Amino acid sequence: MLGLMQDRPLSLPHVFHRAERMFGHKRLITASPAGERETTVAEWAVRVRRLATVLDDLGVSADGRVGTFCWNTDRHLELYLAAPCTGRVLHTLNIRLFPEQLVYVANHAEDEVVFVDRSLLPVLWPVVDQLETVRTIVVIDDGADAEIPSDPRVRDYEELLAAAEPFAGRFSVEDENAAAAMCYTSGTTGNPKGVVYSHRSAVLHSMVTLTADAFGLAERDVVLPVVPMFHANAWGIPYGALLAGCDLVFPGPNMSPAAIASQLERHRVTVTGGVPTIWMGMRPLLADHDLSALRAIICGGSAVPRALSEAYREAIGLPMLHAWGMTETSPIATVSTPRSHHAGWTEDQRADARARQGQAVPFVELRIADPDTGEEMPWDDEASGELQAAGPWIAAEYYRGEGGGAQFTADGWLKTGDVAAVDRWGFVRLVDRTKDLVKSGGEWISSVDLENEIMAHPAVAEAAVIAIPHEKWTERPLACVVVKPGESLTADELLEFLAPRVAKWWLPDAVEFIDEVPKTSVGKFSKKTLREKFDGYSLPS
Ligand code: AMP
Repeated sequence: MLGLMQDRPLSLPHVFHRAERMFGHKRLITASPAGERETTVAEWAVRVRRLATVLDDLGVSADGRVGTFCWNTDRHLELYLAAPCTGRVLHTLNIRLFPEQLVYVANHAEDEVVFVDRSLLPVLWPVVDQLETVRTIVVIDDGADAEIPSDPRVRDYEELLAAAEPFAGRFSVEDENAAAAMCYTSGTTGNPKGVVYSHRSAVLHSMVTLTADAFGLAERDVVLPVVPMFHANAWGIPYGALLAGCDLVFPGPNMSPAAIASQLERHRVTVTGGVPTIWMGMRPLLADHDLSALRAIICGGSAVPRALSEAYREAIGLPMLHAWGMTETSPIATVSTPRSHHAGWTEDQRADARARQGQAVPFVELRIADPDTGEEMPWDDEASGELQAAGPWIAAEYYRGEGGGAQFTADGWLKTGDVAAVDRWGFVRLVDRTKDLVKSGGEWISSVDLENEIMAHPAVAEAAVIAIPHEKWTERPLACVVVKPGESLTADELLEFLAPRVAKWWLPDAVEFIDEVPKTSVGKFSKKTLREKFDGYSLPS
């Protein structure tokens, strides 16, 4: 017997029409080189409708890929809806990719048009002639003074919008499994791989960002996504915020800690999100800003150092809200919100709980598997194995079969490449990336745990641990440490600090002081670059 309920597609036009109909009065605020601009969702919606016509006028094919090379702005949000609501596929290009990678992903996705912020033209333009399928470059003038090339392919965003009639009807995408957006993995090895989100996956994922034990996005929230809109759709925050009816504040090109802190304060932002690097940078500024409106600082993308979260709790009464995910998981898979079983725990125990990546959100299933046998391992917080994930917003394969299915199990689960232990409440504790573990004498040392302990030292700004080949032990840890400005620290002092905190055999064999931990295109520690830098390093015997 079949259920007798209406079969309506889970597709992004609903997000648009709901926002337009009910939240027209809500604000969209964007910082740009020309100053801060405030608009309403109602005005934005008319522009989305015009943009839909522009995509037709430009001859973008029915499911053509629409590239964006943009900061976090209200304009980018126009593209976020106009492309998928007209059946096209939004392809957010990572503005920090190396030129060869940028060319690779735009060609691989077969982008037909690229929308670019004027301030980013100097980054994009040098490779434009290598973009094989791109016919048009649309420049969004954000007030930057970058020269606009006179070239027949170049069009002006505002001129195109002004000339286009707003699309008058209701947007409709009947097949909820049709592609809505795509994003390439940041690719620490090999070429970036394309993850293709469907309307259904985007809608369900947005719904989950509204649930109380995830981000709990609500109409009364004022949300500032620091996480780039080219990084896994800014963790689903833009679609979630529109669905909930939040005000949105966008940082634009100025991502400095000072600029973000002042936007957070000025607009009484309640929810923000970004990688740990951002919050590390803002930490010295906390005392000078009134951030009392904030209720959640979502943090993920890499492990949130316990000391960082604690520093925020002590300074502004609000620790980080730790979340874990991947481009392949849309990305929200786990969130570490406080639970009833934490009640009665000491502050110290709660800080430990917050340092965990959290519990799977509804509809995401997780398991840990023995790396050798593939057998599922128990959730006893002791056993650690490869974390695998399944769910309706988790990739089933990469675009054009890239990677040959190596990252998926025979029963269709995603192999995340992360190693985790899980406690009996299902709270995940990421131990490491498979490839970042230090394998010493047949045992694993978690570089993440070690980094956490090193970063707990008051003189340490940031630290990364990498494995160095060792004749006797196979590998041993090298600690690469950045000391805070104005502080001093010796290797012996650091090792003395670590001695009571970690097992003796975990103590790094050497400490190197560096100016900065190299970062990837999305602001994570780039261990690959560090490994290259210390290639051939000889550890003291
Ligand atoms: P990306 O696809 O670039 O977002 O990278 C996904 C990877 O980032 C994951 O597989 C993890 O290794 C790492 N990651 C994301 N969130 C966290 C977190 N909260 N803690 C530790 N690692 C994380």
